[in-house]
Amino acid sequence: MKVLFLLMALMILNIGLSQNSDITTSLYETYEKYQEPSLNKRRIKHHELQPLFIRHAANKSFTVKKVGESIEGRALNLISMGSGKTNVLLWSQMHGNEPTATQAIFDILNFLASEDFQEEKKEILENLTIHFLPMLNPDGAERFQRRNLLGVDINRDAVRLQSPESKTLKHVRDSLNADFGFNLHDQSAYYNAERTEKPATISYLAPAFNYEKNINEKRGNAMKIIVFMNNIIQKYAPGQVGRYNDDFEPRAFGDNIQKWGTSTILIESGGYANDVEKQEIRKLNYVSILSAIYTIAKENYKNIAIEEYEKIPENDRKLFDLKIVNATYTLMGQNYVLDLGVNRLEVDKKGNNDFWYSSRIIDQGDLSTYYGYETLNAQGFTIKQGKIHPIALINISELKDLDSFDLLKQGYTYVRVANIPGGMLESPIPMNILGSTYKLPDLQLEVGINPTFILEKDGKPQYAVINGFLIDLNKGKKATTFNFAYKNAMIYR
Ligand SMILES: [Zn+2]
Repeated sequence: MKVLFLLMALMILNIGLSQNSDITTSLYETYEKYQEPSLNKRRIKHHELQPLFIRHAANKSFTVKKVGESIEGRALNLISMGSGKTNVLLWSQMHGNEPTATQAIFDILNFLASEDFQEEKKEILENLTIHFLPMLNPDGAERFQRRNLLGVDINRDAVRLQSPESKTLKHVRDSLNADFGFNLHDQSAYYNAERTEKPATISYLAPAFNYEKNINEKRGNAMKIIVFMNNIIQKYAPGQVGRYNDDFEPRAFGDNIQKWGTSTILIESGGYANDVEKQEIRKLNYVSILSAIYTIAKENYKNIAIEEYEKIPENDRKLFDLKIVNATYTLMGQNYVLDLGVNRLEVDKKGNNDFWYSSRIIDQGDLSTYYGYETLNAQGFTIKQGKIHPIALINISELKDLDSFDLLKQGYTYVRVANIPGGMLESPIPMNILGSTYKLPDLQLEVGINPTFILEKDGKPQYAVINGFLIDLNKGKKATTFNFAYKNAMIYR
């Protein structure tokens, strides 16, 4: 009898989990249908969201309500739906340069506004009332910066509440007394799952509500939801999940909202190889958050073991965009073996709608405990300064007559141009451009310099590194890396 009962319980549990898994697969496969097409780059602005709010406000099952204003007077809108007794609140982009979840929220809204998945949506909207507060820091988003216009990190203002954006979030949380809270951020793409080369594409935290890091029912429920979402992400990005350190931060919103009695789930969108605009990560947000909402509606997260939470690997920060290992470097006539860690840093263009790359050597030496999105074993290769092309050009337009790939193969990484247009930020060819009087310093590898050099073997260039982009000179001109680098070389006036 006991065995039979156990068997039945297992079957029910199994049905619950497999139903969730089915919906997750369907959500993943049908995603493109709901993806909001107007938000396809990271540097999204408040004005781009307004037509979307107007469209959703016209939907009779949604309510859109202005709940506050940023310092510069941008409206903070709360969009709600459903009639269930469980309140779920999701807020995004309290850090202005962390937009991935804002995009995913508008994808989720498109899904909820659609006529599809009726049965699942009925379940969600009868059991839950869901509230979205996207882009909590629109002034920061305007400038693609973390902080708000007061220069304050909103996530350290949960208690002092000096920023109007902070007051709005606190007021909304309190007025709803939300059961579940999703605190949606982006993190550096250089985070990895501890002791692996896998980027932490998504990181989670069920924030502590005291220094003792106690686990009460509310925090325990957040941990269970995280375990549920981790299982989903593992399916699409195996190994690419990290868990944040849960040291209590008494000034942060996540920690306080947990303390105020809302099961709080922090989600950080990190990096994913070859996904500069983070659109794959946006999709993973969409699938995992929507699945989490469904499991909260069905309450079948309750059977998940909290211990599974601790098994998610911790976050680490050991990734570079490019890691070059075992390269030979000659200094004062002596040869040394060096690893180099290179990151391609984004510099915003005027208006913060676009960016260019200014790459840097971040570390050098024995980097065997670090990883790269791209790694080159340069054993037997010698780092050599790239040469300046002997023919100086008058105008930028003459660059198109150069066979730059062929010049790279000959070891040239720089070309002089007399007239460089004032506003020009990037070289249109995969060679750095020098003004006619710019004095190029001798290459001395050190942390902080721009990584531009040649890797030679037997006196013959094999690879060029131009502004941190690796170009395989044995591949044809159409090699992907070549095309990528093409847009991103430096100009020194
Ligand atoms: Zn953040």
